[in-house]
Amino acid sequence: MTQQKQYSQNENSLIENRWDDAHAATLSEPELLLYRSNLLGADMRVTNYGGGNTSAKILCLDPLSKEQVPVLWVKGSGGDIGSIRLDGFATLYMDKLESLKPLYRGEAHEDEMVGYLPHCTFNLNSRAASIDTPLHAFVPFAHVDHLHPDAVIAIAAASNSKALTETIYGSEVGWLPWRRPGFQLGLELEKLAKANPHLRGIVLEAHGLFTWGDSAKDCYLTSLEMINKAQRWLDEQLQEVPAFGGDACQSLDSEARRAVAARLMPVIRGKTSQRQRQIGHFNDSAEVLQFVNSQSLRALAELGTSCPDHFLRTKIKPLVLDFDPASANLQQVIDTLDSQLAAYNADYEAYYQRCRHADSPAIRDANPVIYLIPGVGMLSFAKDKATARIAGEFYVNAINVMRGASGVSQYMGLPEQEAFNIEYWLLEEAKLQRMPKPKSLAGQIAVITGGAGGIGRATARRLLSEGACVMLTDIDQHSLDEAVAEFAGAFGADQVAGVVMDVRQEEQVAAALSSTALAFGGVDILVSNAGIASSAPIDETSLAMWQHNQDILSTGYFLVSREAFKIMKTQQMGGSMIFVASKNGLVASANAAAYCTAKAAEIQLARCLALEGAPLGIRVNVVNPDAVLRGSKIWTGKWKEERASAYNMSTDELEEHYRQRSLLKRNVFPEDIAEGVYFFAAEASSKSTGNVLNVDAGHAPSFTR
Ligand code: NAD
Repeated sequence: MTQQKQYSQNENSLIENRWDDAHAATLSEPELLLYRSNLLGADMRVTNYGGGNTSAKILCLDPLSKEQVPVLWVKGSGGDIGSIRLDGFATLYMDKLESLKPLYRGEAHEDEMVGYLPHCTFNLNSRAASIDTPLHAFVPFAHVDHLHPDAVIAIAAASNSKALTETIYGSEVGWLPWRRPGFQLGLELEKLAKANPHLRGIVLEAHGLFTWGDSAKDCYLTSLEMINKAQRWLDEQLQEVPAFGGDACQSLDSEARRAVAARLMPVIRGKTSQRQRQIGHFNDSAEVLQFVNSQSLRALAELGTSCPDHFLRTKIKPLVLDFDPASANLQQVIDTLDSQLAAYNADYEAYYQRCRHADSPAIRDANPVIYLIPGVGMLSFAKDKATARIAGEFYVNAINVMRGASGVSQYMGLPEQEAFNIEYWLLEEAKLQRMPKPKSLAGQIAVITGGAGGIGRATARRLLSEGACVMLTDIDQHSLDEAVAEFAGAFGADQVAGVVMDVRQEEQVAAALSSTALAFGGVDILVSNAGIASSAPIDETSLAMWQHNQDILSTGYFLVSREAFKIMKTQQMGGSMIFVASKNGLVASANAAAYCTAKAAEIQLARCLALEGAPLGIRVNVVNPDAVLRGSKIWTGKWKEERASAYNMSTDELEEHYRQRSLLKRNVFPEDIAEGVYFFAAEASSKSTGNVLNVDAGHAPSFTR
């Protein structure tokens, strides 16, 4: 699960010292490294998600020799210092790392050094060492931070970065020209630091900052001092300079921005999900708007991002959409999106062909990750929600860098061959290949109505466990908040969202589906499930009771499926709708005419939509539960008493009654219904539409024919 980092309360303030001596006094050396890492990594201005790394050289007891030996503790491959735990650090014998130096055959053989790192492992630690390990090992200080602070990268990405480093830091901080991280860069850092013992850090061109200290606290304070120095200097220089050359257009108001994004996202998603389904994220923060509204937008966007961490997440270039907030030409943007995307794809393919080596991995998805929309904000798309959100955050880092660098100098992207060498680095490719296989619903977006109820929650849990993003909707705000919090805890806050929606209210339904498009990019799966139950003999069935059932079950299912259908049609990616109806929609039940009739309408509606949806690849199927007592709110109220009295028994006897009534002599639980829903959502049922699946432990009158 990926944690969301925070910008501090006042984004313009300097980074504040949060070191607590009393707490630090209780910590061991590895714990001090962890403490320092988490403090630094909590602020995105210090380092972006997964970016940067920290280390300490610590004396540890060798399990074989029983002697104290120096061990390098360094952030392991793929970790994030903000959320890292102790087991996220790789541990390596310092003497073995030193013994790699004679084995190094020069720059052309950089990559083979990575293969030696596992041989240096201390204490059988299974955490893989990252390619930055030699950088930390060879800097001749006990505590080393390598960070990607926006303020320092702004200096590092300026065309006169070396001179600016000197202006800001004098002789305290050294400078090294751009070099891809690895063994060679480690040796160069060591050489510069040893030759200049007065240095307190080194700026890496187009990349970031190295700082060090004799203790964890020293190192932490030095990192903050250097970042704040750069920030203070930039603030002074930028005071009089309009950011990005000033405004070229004005933002739409917040509601209008969200409306544009919600309309665009399913269109983009549909056009860019050929290789894998994309999930979207929208960001209209102040710094994004300042950039997308600016005079320099197109020129700077074209230069690409600089820090390798940035473009690995964002691709080198974003796509700037031709939206004009003054004329609100959204339809025109949609109509010309194909040609804008084709031009972007062609440009990316040409870059791949220009820069590829004989052994380069095959070209990856050529679609953009970042979309910039003047007056509206930024969209980011990736294989899952966290990756899309984080890509957007990285582009915010890139915006901050461009604002600083272009304000005090000329901003430089990385030379394209260098960028390519990182993007298609064989070691990077190996990392991608090691990723676990995606889950069966990865990249899919589900909306569940009545999502705070028994069957709704069980369904949400099932779909989330298969990797889907879930928008829970319900009329009951309190239960909804509770359910969203529960699932955010279990599956990560990125994966789930909630919106209050009464399925009877046309506007609320349209707004909830629009919120889903905005939250995730579109809709692939609709689970129409919100419901109630009522019981009364026909002569005691009031018009209000009849209407209530019709409104929620019949009309509600119609409204929700119509709005989801529209988005699915826009996406042109097919889709699956699952109606949770009832066996009472198939068989008549005494004293429940209003409910049974409305449930029958649901089933017939599903069949009609299956017919209309088929040419678009939209499947519509029905799951019929029966007697799901546990977890269901329906079964806590009057319905339970009425059913018990209809069968002349106490409410406690009902569960057993239904079990005995079933052919299989089993009770049905919300999880059983969820399994049926999952089947219809998943690829396994891709050739089924217009079907009805009873999940009722067997009930002969409900057999379909
Ligand atoms: P539940 O009461 O636990 O959940 C239903 C949810 O729908 C609740 O959270 C409720 O707040 C919500 N809801 C009610 N009216 C709404 C409205 N107007 N707009 C939006 N949300 C609304 O019940 P459950 O057992 O989970 O039932 C889910 C579905 O399964 C219902 O359609 C029900 O008819 C059907 N069903 C249940 C059973 C059973 O035995 N539990 C049997 C057959 C069919």
